[in-house]
Amino acid sequence: MGVPKRKMSKMKRRRRVSANHYKGVQATTCTVCGKAVKTHRVCPSCGIYKGKQIITVSE
Ligand SMILES: [Zn+2]
Repeated sequence: MGVPKRKMSKMKRRRRVSANHYKGVQATTCTVCGKAVKTHRVCPSCGIYKGKQIITVSE
């Protein structure tokens, strides 16, 4: 059975463990229209980000 030659550093171990915890791109709900939106992005259905109208969406 293979035995590790060197102790893995805390940094290397933590980086691997945190990568295993990654659950993909997180989604939230828009505060204005309530649709599912990616975080830190302008809402595609109403065009509002942080309470400001960023883009005008045609209906
Ligand atoms: Zn919205």
